[in-house]
Amino acid sequence: MTLRGKLNLPEFRVVFDGEDGKVYEGNKDLKEKIVDTLAHMAQISCEIAKGNEKKAMDIYADIVSMLYKLPMFVSYAPIAEETKVNKVNYIPTAFEYFFIYTVARHVMDITIDKNTSLEDVFKKLESFEHIDMLRSLIRSYFLSIREIYEALINTPADTRPGFNFTSLASHLQLTSLISWLLQPYSIDLSYLRVASLLHDIGKLIDPRHHVTEAINILRKLENALESGGACIKLERVKELIASHHGDYENIVQKADRLASSADRLTELVNKALDTIEYGKEVKECFNKEHEQSYDCFTNLGKEKYEKVSKDIYKFILSQVVSEEVIKNEGAKVFPFIPEKVEKGVKEIQPGRLLGYLVYIDVPGIQNFITNFSKLRDMSFASMLVDFLVTVYSFVLLDTEFSSRVKSRLPAEALLSGYGGHSYIVIRKDICNSDKCYEEIKDLFRGIKLLSNLDLKLQVSIAEFAYDNYIKNYNEVWDEIKDQFSERHLVDFDEEIYSIGLHMVCDNCGIRPASVFAKDFGEYLCKRCYEVRRLSSTRGFISKVKLTYLLPAGEVPLKITPEKSAKKIFGENYTEYAMEFIAGYKGLEDTRYVTIIKADGNRGGIIFSASVTFSDYIDKSFRLDYGVKKAFYETLTELANAEREFLKSDDDLPLTSRILSGVLYLGGDDITILAPSIIAIPFAVKFFEKATQFTGFTFKVGIVSVKPDHPIQFAFQASDELMERSKIKPERDSKNAIEYNKTSIACMVFSSTLASKSVIHSEISKYKKPNNSYLVVANDIKKVKELLELVNLYEFKDVVSLYNSENDKKEIREKLRQLEDIVSYAETNLDKSNGYLRTLAYILRKIAKSDRAYDKEILKKLVEKKEGSLKEIPLYDYYFILKTFKVGVG
Ligand SMILES: [Zn+2]
Repeated sequence: MTLRGKLNLPEFRVVFDGEDGKVYEGNKDLKEKIVDTLAHMAQISCEIAKGNEKKAMDIYADIVSMLYKLPMFVSYAPIAEETKVNKVNYIPTAFEYFFIYTVARHVMDITIDKNTSLEDVFKKLESFEHIDMLRSLIRSYFLSIREIYEALINTPADTRPGFNFTSLASHLQLTSLISWLLQPYSIDLSYLRVASLLHDIGKLIDPRHHVTEAINILRKLENALESGGACIKLERVKELIASHHGDYENIVQKADRLASSADRLTELVNKALDTIEYGKEVKECFNKEHEQSYDCFTNLGKEKYEKVSKDIYKFILSQVVSEEVIKNEGAKVFPFIPEKVEKGVKEIQPGRLLGYLVYIDVPGIQNFITNFSKLRDMSFASMLVDFLVTVYSFVLLDTEFSSRVKSRLPAEALLSGYGGHSYIVIRKDICNSDKCYEEIKDLFRGIKLLSNLDLKLQVSIAEFAYDNYIKNYNEVWDEIKDQFSERHLVDFDEEIYSIGLHMVCDNCGIRPASVFAKDFGEYLCKRCYEVRRLSSTRGFISKVKLTYLLPAGEVPLKITPEKSAKKIFGENYTEYAMEFIAGYKGLEDTRYVTIIKADGNRGGIIFSASVTFSDYIDKSFRLDYGVKKAFYETLTELANAEREFLKSDDDLPLTSRILSGVLYLGGDDITILAPSIIAIPFAVKFFEKATQFTGFTFKVGIVSVKPDHPIQFAFQASDELMERSKIKPERDSKNAIEYNKTSIACMVFSSTLASKSVIHSEISKYKKPNNSYLVVANDIKKVKELLELVNLYEFKDVVSLYNSENDKKEIREKLRQLEDIVSYAETNLDKSNGYLRTLAYILRKIAKSDRAYDKEILKKLVEKKEGSLKEIPLYDYYFILKTFKVGVG
């Protein structure tokens, strides 16, 4: 076997082929899945194009590129077939709209202009007649597509140490994008893209003879297409791939070279080899001929291979990273970031410009989302923000581009999109004049649907690709950042309204009411009216109405949240959205609902410290995929626990509610509403997995409130608590790396209104420099230990509690000790020796109690933290257990 490992970042670890239980080299099963999936994609393309080969090939290129965009589609389970009675197409995420658009545009007119209403944009996409066919692809091939994608992100595009930080997934996507940039006006573009997307696919199975292997795969694919009667011919694709290492440089080959920044990297790697340990040995391997070279690297052994991979990466970073990144306090927690910048290589003189990168974001997202007081509006608003920066912006640019050059933006051009921003690559010929930036920005000005929403899309542009060089993320970001300052001066704030002259909107209380919404009996402003109307079939509503498939044994589970909702609340269930998510079993129930809000730690530094653009894309996609996979697997675990307990597939109450309560899940940005009873164990399992899959750590804020609590304030409270939960290295810490941890902060609000300022006052009440009853930034490991101690870590135990007749009694027992300490602490809070008295009280209770559980939970409070007892997690643990208590009702 060939020794090859992918250097994963930000965890800075080499994962070798075969290490996670999957061996890719020589994997016949994987090869079959690739052929099968690609063949099925071709069948679908032909069907949608009604046998027109040119059209089918255009569609095929976009569908194949979806293999590399998988992160976008796995946030929820695959969706079961629509029932024929139900004609409305419910679509849960912005990315599903994106998928629909990239395919539908080839067979129907979805062009838009500045006056197209938001409703029309949605309706056009939802009316695409083949939506279920696209879903069936995800439905039937979900497991294969996942397996192929994971192979693609776990396999390095180049096996050699020093080059092995780029995955095949990002390399292939970028190669295709550059082929498009290099080849304007090409009628063969779709063939070129498919060839680029697949040119290195053989590397998965046979790294040493990857061209032969790719051709082999293509031949099998051709056979499958012929026997299936597909209209697509792959002869030209095969030729392009066969020659991509040939003497005459074709487009694929040139794109390949640019995408892997081969020229620049080779120079840097060579320089690194002169300075690092084992450099000489490794250099010899580099100088050997083909087969001997692979053997030479294989003979190095895993240990040296990993060390050299890391040392070279760190060296390259020291040559390309900016001073600013290294100086950042947070950089110290990452071992891959060098201590010094040592620029010794000559700068590359950019050649002919090929394309720009457009960065689109929505300033004031939080303000926009928290403008709405109903869950269904807020849920739609969260989806809408992503829809605008990815789908809508893409459609806008695509419409303009195709009117200019009669060609389409490839789906690969959407490089990434989540968290309210996106990166879209455009070719230079989208512009007429030298004032390209202005032309592009103009496209986003004066858009009617945005002014109705009182929302702005901010557009920044940077030069991205030249015929000899692709800019690094850092270089692009520098140029984009510079445009931020100008825009804040010009038009950042929302419009200011004169109050008193007009009737004010019943929903937001800020904007002038301009419409009487009959169905709701409210006077609404344009923004609130637009969102209210559109949220009737989208956002939360679509999430509740859909039927999801989750794997369980042989037959997948089918879950339709609406079924449980109707059973309890009747047809009018949307009026009880929060009560539903809280886990109500009947109208008289009193359970709380929990908002889990999380964000990755130090994402800005991690992304800025990228050595190439592919490196950035890899980090971004691994993050997005890892978070969604973690969510999906945690949810599946819960579903299986519920099914096991209830001995039924029909109605899984907790799973249904979490599926309906996903407010946002994209990249490192997460907001989920959940029944309080399951919130903490769900969050702990979810973020343990997310940390493991992505290498990122997260800060998590968890706030529980009554279902009738204004959701926008609870949202702001959880956001604030999340910010405060981040673990920071102590000053002068020698080992900052140890502080890079996932952390959880938790609070419950029963009588006071949860809001940003209340979070501040609560924290300052209990957290004082030398005698603190509240840690806030709790290491996730500690939270897990606590849950294990109270037997509420495993889902089966929580499911059993939720279904128990004695739920209230059980949880009261578990909380009794902490409640006792809290009430003692509360009366001593303001006394000068109150803290010590509370400590003494805890110790006395430990000595006196005769139940093992009581002793253990109290001992957990006074576990010494680095020899001092200046801080005990009393309120942290109290709030965590109280979250279960309010979840019981
Ligand atoms: Zn309003």
